[in-house]
Amino acid sequence: SSKSDLIYRNLLKGVRDSGADKNVQVIKTGCFGFCEKGPIVKVQPDESFYVEVKPEDAAEIVSEHLVKGQEVTRLLYDKNKKPGAKADDIDFYKKQVRVVLRNCGIIDPENIHEYIARDGYQALAKVLFELTPEQVIEELKKSGLRGRGGAGFPTWRKWDFSKAVQDDQKYIVCNADEGDPGAYMDRSTLEGDPHSVLEAMTIAGRTIGATRGFIYIRAEYPLAINRLEIAIRQARELGLLGEGILGSAFAFDIELRLGAGAFVCGEETALLASIEGSRGMPRPRPPFPAVKGLWGKPTVINNVETYANIAAIMLKGGDWFASMGTATSKGTKVFALTGKVKNSGLIEVPMGTTLREIIFDIGGGISSGKKFKAAQSGGPSGGVIAEEFLDTPIDYENLAKIGSIMGSGGLIVMDEDDCMVDVAKFYLEFTVDESCGKCSPCRIGGKQILGLLEKITKGQGTLDDIEKIQKIGQAMRKASLCALGGTASNPVISTLKYFEPEYLEHINAKK
Ligand code: SF4
Repeated sequence: SSKSDLIYRNLLKGVRDSGADKNVQVIKTGCFGFCEKGPIVKVQPDESFYVEVKPEDAAEIVSEHLVKGQEVTRLLYDKNKKPGAKADDIDFYKKQVRVVLRNCGIIDPENIHEYIARDGYQALAKVLFELTPEQVIEELKKSGLRGRGGAGFPTWRKWDFSKAVQDDQKYIVCNADEGDPGAYMDRSTLEGDPHSVLEAMTIAGRTIGATRGFIYIRAEYPLAINRLEIAIRQARELGLLGEGILGSAFAFDIELRLGAGAFVCGEETALLASIEGSRGMPRPRPPFPAVKGLWGKPTVINNVETYANIAAIMLKGGDWFASMGTATSKGTKVFALTGKVKNSGLIEVPMGTTLREIIFDIGGGISSGKKFKAAQSGGPSGGVIAEEFLDTPIDYENLAKIGSIMGSGGLIVMDEDDCMVDVAKFYLEFTVDESCGKCSPCRIGGKQILGLLEKITKGQGTLDDIEKIQKIGQAMRKASLCALGGTASNPVISTLKYFEPEYLEHINAKK
């Protein structure tokens, strides 16, 4: 609907017809992150950042800028841009640090040579010819990288557990089953830089002694799937996947597995069951997949964002990565910033950045001009962050302390018009719908809480209902088999904690 492809074709035709194609290359890249202002055309090396470009603007960009060398001021994001000013100097990018998204919006993701030109596959070469598996794990340990899928488990530990198990077959799995409402970090990373994930999975394979990898990706991501298929084919052609990688004795290959869009398949044991061809349902842990995973074999599972950090860590070192972030949460985090914020988009900031910086400095403040009320982090497993926590540095521990979670990185901003009971009900409806039904605390508890929320929003609730919600929520937390049920009550519990008067208002407004 953004007509980006038509803009691309118009630019291509324009440079060809004008003869500018001798000096100009038109490249299709992945996401620039600044979704609010898309489609974006960037002209390099002039650092011209053209926003909200329409297909008919392509001719002017070609005739004025590419032929005559004059920037098209009306299309520039910064109309007062001084010559040579960097696109990264605009407010949306100023506070961002791009590690995961280092190549997104810069390279053509369908051309492996562009990835290689930006140090791509050098980390793999280093791991193959300079580092032992123990040194790789040591570097990961120094980096402090924790799983970006939500739980925040130290990545080096997972790899170390799998490495320690003696087995003739081990597997590497990438969880690309991103399903939180409002989250699109992994999709954009795969669309913009698929090789960063392939390279990291190959490094993981070499480290733990695995020869096969699977990327489990939801079928609703056709562009990401297409770019992964191209990337895998190109990597095989250049000897970066398959037998004898880079002339070494190491063999590793990657296949895609498409998921049908069930939220529960983002849970690692359900995901493995789905790859194995069974119905995607969680199973009790232990044993953990690192020891007994796919087809009962040791399996390292990380999500897209976790993998996208690995090559940079191997090249620049664990200490470099650990120099960013807070005491317990190192590196950066990608967020999909959406909701009532002026500059919605995909952002990457050092851990420890405050919500105020994210929403007001990067996000430009509240789009409606109204007052900020809360932000939901962690999707249906998370909770709301109320105004009093705007200056809390965001990391795994701080978010847990205030009743939310980091989750995979969805961040939805709400203003004073949003009803927090409705917000809680929305997430409950989602989890009830997505519950696999295997265990009763989740299957029954979720429905009961939803029923109580419906009663309250219809003006038929009582104070007892609030107590019941708390009790059922606690039971679900304690007794559910997997995190979907275990965390399903978080949105309602956290909205109750910080916005109880809104619940009472509904109850007191009885019909
Ligand atoms: Fe299925 Fe919910 Fe139980 Fe998880 S908690 S196994 S999603 S019923």
